[in-house]
Amino acid sequence: MIELTHFIGGRRVKGASGRFAEGFEPMTGEAISRVPLAAKAEVRAAVENAAAAQPAWVAAGPQRRARVLTKFIDLVARDMGPLAELLAREHGKTIADARGDIQRGLEVVEFATGVAHLMKGEFTDAAAPGLDIYSMRQPLGVVAGITPFNFPAMIPMWKFGPAIACGNAFVLKPSERDPGVPLRLAELMIEAGLPAGVLNVVNGDKEAVDAILDDPDVKAVGFVGSTPVAAYIYTRGAAAGKRMQCFGGSKNHMIVMPDADMNQAVDALVGAGYGSAGERCMAISVVAPVGEATANELVKRLIPRVEGLKIGPSTDATADYGPLVTKAHLDKVKAYVELGVKEGAKLLVDGRDFKLQGYENGFYMGGCLFDDVKPHMRIYREEIFGPVLSVARTATYAEALALASNHEYGNGVAIFTRDGDAARDFASKVQAGMVGINVPIPVPLAYYTFGGWKRSMFGDLNQLGPDAVRFYTKTKTVTSRWPSGVKDGASFVIPTLS
Ligand code: NAD
Repeated sequence: MIELTHFIGGRRVKGASGRFAEGFEPMTGEAISRVPLAAKAEVRAAVENAAAAQPAWVAAGPQRRARVLTKFIDLVARDMGPLAELLAREHGKTIADARGDIQRGLEVVEFATGVAHLMKGEFTDAAAPGLDIYSMRQPLGVVAGITPFNFPAMIPMWKFGPAIACGNAFVLKPSERDPGVPLRLAELMIEAGLPAGVLNVVNGDKEAVDAILDDPDVKAVGFVGSTPVAAYIYTRGAAAGKRMQCFGGSKNHMIVMPDADMNQAVDALVGAGYGSAGERCMAISVVAPVGEATANELVKRLIPRVEGLKIGPSTDATADYGPLVTKAHLDKVKAYVELGVKEGAKLLVDGRDFKLQGYENGFYMGGCLFDDVKPHMRIYREEIFGPVLSVARTATYAEALALASNHEYGNGVAIFTRDGDAARDFASKVQAGMVGINVPIPVPLAYYTFGGWKRSMFGDLNQLGPDAVRFYTKTKTVTSRWPSGVKDGASFVIPTLS
């Protein structure tokens, strides 16, 4: 069993608090690591290192900063194989899916290499006689990211890539369930030429998070995780005067219209519902077919596909998905299935008893499919975050639109149809932050922004794209006049252009 570390001031640092979490290999169920849980003093050491490194980092200028990120992208590509294996080993997703996790993170770092352009301000020549106005974007200083277990490479890169490109120094608190890849990414940043202290990784739990939220030198916090924790972190950080963006959980609906291409819809549903064992914030967890005939046809086609899902160890290149992240999470997902049965939903496919030969202690679960799920049921209202898909039948398009819009979460949503009018109406009216039209997991590419609505997001600015630059910088506006431009004497009224 290996003992993991923190990464502070450009090097690995052993945990000093005496508290550890156990890290597991989900595919075998074995404990493989001890993850140090930082105390306040270790968080403070990371913040102090970051604060000391940040002024020189911003002074290096945006192009030199971008060069470090470009080199980092090359190094991650060089190490893609071992990084994906480590990620799959700690998280449980398949190696192919782990590569996608890393790649989608790199795409945001690629976007961030355009920072010299992205940070440019505005200039108005001669706004009034002899008077010029310009604006500039400056980094915030030390900023922090708190990230979830389900994308241990992508989401840390979504946070530290743009933040560091903008000239901030960063403290990352990754999930204690799979911190191996974030630690490696920090080492690769140093190899790419990042000065020590600009990127620090502190492992920990609530104690470390609270220390970040209470630290007066941390100016902004980007969080991704479950909604109750997002709400808590947003409230505590904002009360301390920090800039906050906290992305929470989801219940993503897919509307299937009577005219949809059924083959396309079913393929989309099995991939988006069960890929990565349903442990994706953009997974489809509810499908709302419109009309009885559509529902009957969809369910008839879905049953054999869900029964035929191939579940295997993360190393099996032919597996559709691997184990869940921990035994505790597996038990929680199974408990939801039990609850669904009690609530009166029809369990058409029950994958709870699935066992994988040779991996009997791994955290595996077969796909589950519910029909006749109603809006009052807890399995409909709450995020399950496992390989469980609910069919919620609707009679009309209007009912399906209202169903998706009225859910307390509003992360992603999709409609499958051949009708352009319906698709356009849906995209315009539905109450969710990211919409797919015949696309089941509409995660925008790096140059658009990503963020949900309602209780899927707390804060004002999204992550990725131009909003990432806005979040990690503050705007300063300069109004300037030189002596030759001064025409008036002293004035005691507010200047106007009238
Ligand atoms: P989580 O909320 O349990 O943990 C997220 C982070 O918060 C971790 O770093 C964890 O250590 C920390 N944390 C946990 N409990 C805490 C507490 N009580 N106080 C302070 N910090 C705490 O989430 P998870 O299980 O790691 O990730 C899955 C969740 O993340 C799902 O709800 C999923 O929908 C969500 N998610 C959302 C997005 C998005 O962009 N909206 C993306 C990915 C995942």
